[in-house]
Formats: sequence, structure tokens, C-alpha cells
Amino acid sequence: MPVYLDEPLPDEMLFSVIARYVQGSRVGDIAGFLRNLMGVRGTVCADGYLDLVHLATQTEAAWGMTPRAIQDRLTHFPFYSAMVGPGGNGSLGRSLLRCAQWSGYLEAGYPGLRFCRTCWRQDDERQEPRYWRRSHQLPGVVTCVWHGEVLHVAGAPAARRLLVATTRLDEGHPAIEGRAGDAVAWRDITLLAAQLLGGNFPWTGFFDPDVRFGCARRCGYASGNSLDFARMSRDMVARLGNTYMRAVGLAGDGSAWLRRAFLRPTYGSFQSLPLLLVAHHLIGGSSRPADASTPICPGARSDHDEEHRVTQRRRENGCPHYFCSCGFSFIFEQLAGGDGAITPTQTGPDIAMAAAVLASRSHSVAQIASSLGLEVAHVERQIGHRVEVRPWHRRTVRARHLASWVELVNQLGDANAAFLKDGRLWRRVAPLAEALPEALLPALAE
Ligand SMILES: [Zn+2]
Ligand SMILES: [Zn+2]
Repeated sequence: MPVYLDEPLPDEMLFSVIARYVQGSRVGDIAGFLRNLMGVRGTVCADGYLDLVHLATQTEAAWGMTPRAIQDRLTHFPFYSAMVGPGGNGSLGRSLLRCAQWSGYLEAGYPGLRFCRTCWRQDDERQEPRYWRRSHQLPGVVTCVWHGEVLHVAGAPAARRLLVATTRLDEGHPAIEGRAGDAVAWRDITLLAAQLLGGNFPWTGFFDPDVRFGCARRCGYASGNSLDFARMSRDMVARLGNTYMRAVGLAGDGSAWLRRAFLRPTYGSFQSLPLLLVAHHLIGGSSRPADASTPICPGARSDHDEEHRVTQRRRENGCPHYFCSCGFSFIFEQLAGGDGAITPTQTGPDIAMAAAVLASRSHSVAQIASSLGLEVAHVERQIGHRVEVRPWHRRTVRARHLASWVELVNQLGDANAAFLKDGRLWRRVAPLAEALPEALLPALAE
């Protein structure tokens, strides 16, 4: 028996069209209605696409859409398909059906079914029914792609109940509480997710593991033959904020889910949100240096983050060596094609650690700052939150030598006197010379 569903509205979810019909026609037996509309149970075609043939047949008189058109226009399939990349669709379809079946492929978990109050007000003004948009339900999305404002989460917990829950009430709570300054990163994620849904994401190669690794390396997360997931996750959380991580259900130790998202386990446990966040962090990160005259620290929230002020000290092997006020240091190499590559160096973390060593030996922060040629606020921050770069985060030898050198120079009042007293100590510190103030450099050693 054909079903005369309403014409889908722009970006409307299949779930929403069905819900409007169920409400408008006062359907009593919802389960029976869904069986008639969708078939016995959702299945996947051999090529991995959703089997919407029954639905297409039932709605043909009203919509005249092919199963593929329904899938691409009314479900989140294009988004997830982009996330798995070529060849991943088979298991993708099965996975989607397992978690959401016909309901429009709500991402399980936080923050739930979302709406934008301005979108709904505009629906009212146009005298159209309020409806649920696909772009609002994408994983990680907490702001409206059209209005930029924070979305609200509908109160009802189960999709099935929402079929009869009304969209007339402005119930619900904000999808996220947070500072206005954080919203920039949230909107970037919304935009990336919407681009993936619309099939106009310019860099699908990201879903190739080699491309992903290369991207992470360019952003400065290489650590020998592997990646420094702990630092990447700290940077990512710093950029998005803890409120965001809680709102999307990813609070806790980020390095575990980050590693999983990166290494791409079997599709059974696939979660798109971690991968989306990794993509946002690395794609944003690797494109940032290219259009800035000074590269940006991977830990910075934006290119004008006061806690990550980058200065160039000297060129090393032809590439400029940069120091961030957070204690991170790196060589920046401009690659063909405009991208830049960041390679961490040990110098910045060594100096930050020397500052911490001196602080533990009861030198004042002002003294330490002046000895090491740093600003007081930066020293305070570096002592409080030391940047840990994995290959050398437990190596303290050079930092301790530097601390001792600073003490010796202070004690004798002059770097040359210190050099005459303990030339060996200087030679251990000398590799850091380019980043040290003149007062610590013995002219006699030249
Ligand atoms: Zn809106
Ligand atoms: Zn930094």
C-alpha cells in the first residue's frame, strides 16, 4: 500500500519526514506502519549501500525517488561513506543498520537529537512545519551550520518516542555550555562535518592511513617511527575545551581513543567522531602554517593564542628554528605545494625543564626568567604545564646541566669565569646555545 509522505524539506532527515507523517495522520500502530513503509527489517545490498528498495517503492507515488537518491538526500550515509573511504561501504551499511536501523542514522550517544532555535523560528515564519535537519545530527556537531549558534538537544531519549514527540515545544537544553571564544573551533568542526555530508570535502585522501600519518608528521607529532598520541590528544583537548569533550561524550584519557581512531581498527567498533576530530585537528593544523608568515604552535587554539607565542631564534640546516612560549620548539620546513612541516626539537623542552629544575632549587621565577631570557609569564606557565615531547620527555640530563650552568654563571657573575672554572659543563650545554641569552654564552669558548 503506497504511503503519501510529504515532500522532504531541505536537509531533512528521513526520520523527520516519517515523524511528520506519523503526527499529521495520527498513526496509531506505529510499528505496523513502519513495517509497511520500510519492509520487514533494514538490510544492506551486496555493494554495501542501504537497501531502501521497499521504501522507494512505497513512496514512489509521492516522491518518485530512487533508493540511492533517498539514501543520499535523506540519510547520513554520504557522511559515513566519506569517513570510511573507498571500499568501506559494505561494513558501513551493516554497522549503521545495527545501531540505528530506519531512524535516520542517529549517532549513538551524546549529545542526542539536536535542533537550532533560529532554524525553527524561520520554519514558523515561513509557515512550514518544524523539522529535524541532518546537518544538526552529525557527530561532534554542537552549532548550527547556517546560524552558528549553539544547538539545543531534545529531551526525549529514544528515537521511537520522538516520532510522536512534538516539535512544537521549545523544550531541550543547550548541546554545550561554554565560552564564546571556544565556539570558533566548534564551528570549524560543524563546517567540516557538513562538507563531508554534502560530498564537497576537498581532501578525502585523509582517510588513507598513509596520508593521515604524513599529515600528523607535518603537524609535528612524529616520534621516531610512531606518533606522539599523548601530546596530540592534549593539544586537541586544549583547542576544543573540556566542555566540548564532555558534551560529545569523549571525556577522559584522549590518547586511547585517538590512537584507535588513527590506526583504524576493524569496522565493527568504528566510531566516526574521533576520526572527525583528528581530521579537524590535523587538517587545520597542517594548513595553518602555510598561510601564516610565522608558523603556529600545534598546541595553539588559534593563530593569536596568547599562551602560544612563537618566535624564531636561528636557522638550523637552512630551516628556521622556532620557540613557542609554551616550551615547545620546532624546525619549520616549507614543503612544495605550500604546506609546512613541523619537526619537534629538544631545545625548547630542555630549557623549560631547566626552568623547573631551577624553581625546585628555590630560584625565583623573576630570576629564572631573566637568566634564561624568557618572560615571567611564560616561565610560570612552563613550570606549571610542561610540554612533553615523547622521545625525550624523560630525559633530564641536559636540562639539569643547563640549570647548573645558570647557577654557576650567577655565582661567578660572568659566563667566561664559569667557562674557566668548568669548561666540561659548558660543552654539555653548548648545543642549546642558539636559544640562550648572551649572558650565558662564554666568549672564550668560541
Ligand atoms: Zn540554525
Ligand atoms: Zn605552544
